[in-house]
Amino acid sequence: MTPFKPKNQKQVVIIMGAPGSGKGTQATLVSDRLSLYYLETSKLLEAAFNSPKTKSVIGADGKRYLMAAEKKIWLSGRLNSMPFTLSLISEKIKRVFEGGDGLLLAGSPRRVSEAELLMPFLTKLYGKQNIRTVLLEISAKESIFRNSHRKLCTLMRHPILYSRENAKLNYCPIDGSKLVARKGLDDPKTIRIRLETYKQETLPIVDYLKKNKFSVKKINGMPAPAVVFNNILKSLGER
Ligand SMILES: [Zn+2]
Repeated sequence: MTPFKPKNQKQVVIIMGAPGSGKGTQATLVSDRLSLYYLETSKLLEAAFNSPKTKSVIGADGKRYLMAAEKKIWLSGRLNSMPFTLSLISEKIKRVFEGGDGLLLAGSPRRVSEAELLMPFLTKLYGKQNIRTVLLEISAKESIFRNSHRKLCTLMRHPILYSRENAKLNYCPIDGSKLVARKGLDDPKTIRIRLETYKQETLPIVDYLKKNKFSVKKINGMPAPAVVFNNILKSLGER
């Protein structure tokens, strides 16, 4: 009998991509396959903004951030104040690491200044050789199209990306709850702002990562999710 040998026991996978690139779908699939804790920044923020238990003021980096003001920024499609977001994320990451789990990030870091703080923090915990980034690439046209057709389920907030196969889907295929359009964030005008924000602020992170010798794999995000998933696993050497 071969002794049990954990493979890549504590790895970090970061999935980057424009809104609608399928980040959320792939993050769910990859974290499931590789047994990684999926830290979804948008959900973390959404939970913080919508929970009645959340404090109305968050202290971070020697400053005070008003929850109501941050929620307004978030709803407009712009990026939240960096120290605010980072304090929420790093607190969570520390708990995941201490629990002995690997990590999957989708939606963080979202700009270079955040990567400059987050990557050294992750490196200290997990080691640079265990951190890998996957960049999902889709066209702007496809991003706008997919986002304006995106639905969320009312029970678990499962994101349902638009495709010909599920165009008439009204209920979540996983839990059967009703599907609704995501108000605010997926309005056409807001999508354009989010796309522009991604290009201007998030995409330059790739250069930062390469310059600092982090692994970055580019994957075509246009094919069906199952195909993209396979290509991600291959690029991570898991297949
Ligand atoms: Zn669902």
